[in-house]
Amino acid sequence: MAPNALFWDVDTQQDFMDEDGRLAVPGAQEIVPNLEKLTNFAAERGIPIVASGDAHAPDDPEFEEFGRHCVAGTLGAEKISATRQEKCPALDRSVLPEFVNGLMGGTLGQILIQKQELDVFTVPMAEEVLARLKPEHVYVYGVATEYCVRATVLGLRERGYEATVIRDAIRGIDPDDTAEALEEMKEAGADLADTDEVLSALG
Ligand SMILES: [Zn+2]
Repeated sequence: MAPNALFWDVDTQQDFMDEDGRLAVPGAQEIVPNLEKLTNFAAERGIPIVASGDAHAPDDPEFEEFGRHCVAGTLGAEKISATRQEKCPALDRSVLPEFVNGLMGGTLGQILIQKQELDVFTVPMAEEVLARLKPEHVYVYGVATEYCVRATVLGLRERGYEATVIRDAIRGIDPDDTAEALEEMKEAGADLADTDEVLSALG
């Protein structure tokens, strides 16, 4: 059975979330209690979570713009504990059907899609996972609002998925760019809601 709700956890990795992370998003610590609520709620209710995460090579060209961050295998690339369930295996093509079945059957709560670019949909497996899960609604949270959250939400809407951005569980870097990104996501048909509203709507 296709899940009614899918949670999509964007890049809640130590380099972005921790105050002393290599590419710390200002104020990211303030959303941690909501991230924890969402993660725990999903575990209790059997709502699957797809997480994305940067996994860069040590000399990734992206570092020219953003500086070095989330190098694969380093602590900075690890998910923070608030959004990490006991099992959060990284997806590769050979295990994709098995992982999707695990998410649908409730034996696996969370999977990780590793990416090298801002937009998770540059990884073709992202689209494949969605096509197999067929969620009725995708709830998106994480960082950073005007970069990877924006790309995720616009990508979901382009592919026809209903999406809600959980506005008190996201954080941007620049306030003006963040506001602009929120407008753009709304215009693309995404809803905005707070964590508590989402959790009570999902009962
Ligand atoms: Zn990156």
